Amino acid sequence: MKRVAIIGSTGSIGKNTLEVIKELGDYEVYALISGNNIPLLLRQAQEFNPEYVGSVFSDNEKRLNELVKNRWKTLIGIEGCNELAISEEVDILVIASKGTLTFEPLIKALRCGKRVATANKETIVAYAPILKSILPAIQGELIPIDSEHSGIYQSLLGAERSNISKIILPASGGPFYKRESFEGISPEEALEHPNWKMGSKVTIDSATLMNKGFEVIEASVLFGLSSDEIEVVIHPQSIVHGMVLYKDGSVISQLSKPDMRIPIRFALTAPEHRGSAFDPLDISEVKTLTFYKVDENKFPLLSLAYYALKEGGTLPAVLAASDEVAVNAFLEGKIGFIRLMDIVIEVTQSHSPVKEPEIKDIIEAEEWAIFRSKELIG
Ligand code: MG
Repeated sequence: MKRVAIIGSTGSIGKNTLEVIKELGDYEVYALISGNNIPLLLRQAQEFNPEYVGSVFSDNEKRLNELVKNRWKTLIGIEGCNELAISEEVDILVIASKGTLTFEPLIKALRCGKRVATANKETIVAYAPILKSILPAIQGELIPIDSEHSGIYQSLLGAERSNISKIILPASGGPFYKRESFEGISPEEALEHPNWKMGSKVTIDSATLMNKGFEVIEASVLFGLSSDEIEVVIHPQSIVHGMVLYKDGSVISQLSKPDMRIPIRFALTAPEHRGSAFDPLDISEVKTLTFYKVDENKFPLLSLAYYALKEGGTLPAVLAASDEVAVNAFLEGKIGFIRLMDIVIEVTQSHSPVKEPEIKDIIEAEEWAIFRSKELIG
């Protein structure tokens, strides 16, 4: 039995992780940590009976303890997550929560030699320069749940770094890659992702291609690649999830249906491909696979992410924090779709980055980006 602790169990990735654990059979849930959705957390706890339940937010402590009534042990805040990260009882830490709060448990678990399966790209993006400097010497395994990075991870198994020419990240293009003008796009339209069913933040990020920009930075951290070794193509069918071009001319890629349970399961069982597909891909039904270059004028946030990656320092953190604020304002109807992109560009370009940041510099940069974005939203 492998024991799994899930931070962010009540979100879309968390729920899918529990489904996968149920199907695999030889993995058990050791801890379930939610954000604010305590009612769902308790329902999950009843079904999976973990040792611990908890919330990443300290202000849920009283409410949680009242509701749990000693049925489970509780853990609160990032301190609680840190306990799980270093606990000998935990084999795999799944990070499926939003925001950049989970940097500490991520690092602590890796330093203890654990496997960390992460779906949280904000933390990897914001802390990119710090992670890049410490990951090569770290003991644990950091395995991506993000479908593209899982595809690339799988396509890189057994590879020599010196034989890799570049990696290609496919982007579905979201709902608007064919649309001529971005005027008047409503949150409802932007939330209609053609292929993937995901949380609202990442769905909007897919519509602006900001998500793909974050994934470029994420890939650079995870695979130790420079910005010119990472290419993005539009691939509307979302069947090919990652490609690696080797110097000998071979391209190795991973294909599957767009189903997050596949990368989640691989992150738990890697390097094995265990379990059985919920709905396997019938390759003869795949009539066409198409790939297009990205129109950078239409999707300026992708180029902005390359800029943030090249400049480095605190810029990726500013990019991610500003986008978070702007996406929320768009979802609340405070700003339009074009304004969302403009605010992220303006905030990121006006930031003077700290070149070799420490944790406190990243936090300060995020705070600045949040303040400045809100100011621009008005
Ligand atoms: Mg992705």
